Amino acid sequence: MSILVVGSVALDTVETPFARVEETLGGAASYFATAASLYNQVNLVAVIGTDFPREHLDFWRGRPVNMAGLRIEEGRTFLWAARYHMDMNTRDTLDTQLGVYAGFHPVIPEEYSSSELLFLANIQPELQMEVLEQVSGVSLSVLDTMELWIMTARAQLTEVIKRVDMLLMSEEEIRQYTNSASIVKGVRQLLDMGLQYVVVKQGSYGALLFGADGTFFSAPTYPLEEVIDPTGAGDAFAGGLLGYLSTVEPQRGGRYSVDQIKLGVVHGNILGSFVCEDFSIGRLRTLIMDDVAERYQCLVACSHFDPDWRFSQPGQVKTVIR
Ligand code: AMP
Repeated sequence: MSILVVGSVALDTVETPFARVEETLGGAASYFATAASLYNQVNLVAVIGTDFPREHLDFWRGRPVNMAGLRIEEGRTFLWAARYHMDMNTRDTLDTQLGVYAGFHPVIPEEYSSSELLFLANIQPELQMEVLEQVSGVSLSVLDTMELWIMTARAQLTEVIKRVDMLLMSEEEIRQYTNSASIVKGVRQLLDMGLQYVVVKQGSYGALLFGADGTFFSAPTYPLEEVIDPTGAGDAFAGGLLGYLSTVEPQRGGRYSVDQIKLGVVHGNILGSFVCEDFSIGRLRTLIMDDVAERYQCLVACSHFDPDWRFSQPGQVKTVIR
């Protein structure tokens, strides 16, 4: 099964309290494509400027990343700069320069038309809508967004939310969009818009899955000793989620079961944790499935507990009824 992603490919300048990197490979689609291509073929739709370093394209040529939908336009690649606070979960955006994205309209190549999974990575909601107008028959469509679009393009974002299956949002974004102090109430509002699933991203604390059918799942998070750069964790999360789903058969009717979606969220947490171990896609370059499998077992061990516990008073003798 192949995965279609439309989003930003960027050059990021990132500052943490401990280090700084300049114009390194970034962009939501870049993180997603690199993470998901560990599992399956990724069909990329994005635009880059003529200044984009060729070495990044060479890296993706060595992975199952189809770049037929990656346009190269005269001008500058999308530039983004941010500074992280000491907690390494919150950041200030210092600069956003759309560059060639200013005049971009996504075109889905014919050869991508059989993609079963769709990720609308962070990009202007109007462009996300243009993608939805061009695709049909996907088994699962997943949407990501950010504060900028909640604040500046709310109406367009709302139209996109109404047309996808799953929405990924951080706790803060849910509060901003729904105006609800309670995340659970905010999620309820979002599900009432027709979504099947909402995933609440909690930074280094993992992710929560809410389903329209009443599903609630708290995916375990990997206790990382040191976070070097959390940029792209949400996109790598989506890469792990859709990457995993691309390796399993959906049920009859082309829908994934809740259990498959839950495992997808676990894979999302795993890929999200790896990306934080280096700047840019540094850690994802060398990541292999054995590393993912090892972290998977670690999450099983740290989240498994005795389901048979029952309350009894200290000293109370249990009466066994036969
Ligand atoms: P995340 O850390 O998952 O929120 O993703 C960060 C990535 O999103 C960075 O690599 C940026 O290049 C990219 N990004 C930041 N702002 C925007 C924006 N306004 N539109 C599209 N992509 C963006």
